[in-house]
Amino acid sequence: MSSRSRDAKQTQRVPSGQPKPETKEEKTVVLDVPSKLLLNIVDRIISFEQDNPELGRAAAQVVLFLLTKGEAFPEEKIAAKLNLDIGEVRKILQILYRYSLVELLREAVDVERGRYENRWRVSRNLVVRVLKSRLRNVIDVLQVCLNEYTNTAYYVCPCCFKRYSMDDAYNVDFRCPRDDTPLVQPDTAAEVEFLARLIKDLQDYLEKLDSETKHA
Ligand SMILES: [Zn+2]
Repeated sequence: MSSRSRDAKQTQRVPSGQPKPETKEEKTVVLDVPSKLLLNIVDRIISFEQDNPELGRAAAQVVLFLLTKGEAFPEEKIAAKLNLDIGEVRKILQILYRYSLVELLREAVDVERGRYENRWRVSRNLVVRVLKSRLRNVIDVLQVCLNEYTNTAYYVCPCCFKRYSMDDAYNVDFRCPRDDTPLVQPDTAAEVEFLARLIKDLQDYLEKLDSETKHA
């Protein structure tokens, strides 16, 4: 059962005249790309770490709640609002904190007795920071591919499509030993152009995100 169908059932069960459940409000929120990405990452990390997809979905619910509220909440309140087990919520928040996917505000409740309250937050800056670090990883990978295409010369047999390094091609006198076809250097201009454009677009997007964080 998806959490969405579970929510739908809960909504139906609430008789009219009673306060609407908190989750009702979140459903109407339109999420932008960075927020959706964060929810995916959270779901994946918790599902994988705990080998528990159910907990992954609960984690995404917790982050969605904090994201849409935009302010810090104590874990008890998060658990109560989302109708989740407090132990589960605590576990989720601690794992996400390790991955820097939630922010922890520790506030003194009673300074004399040294009592503190933990409050958790998912700020816009955090969302953008996560997206930026993922984007940088993607750009790094694409850059390696681009360098491979531009700097590594190789030959290919137009008959059997076997690839030869520069040295191997030299050793077989630039003829394929399988079918005696002259080797050719493939034209990678289209691939190079595509990768270069993709990298440029991602870098532009990264810059746009940079200016968003600066103005935040
Ligand atoms: Zn060949």
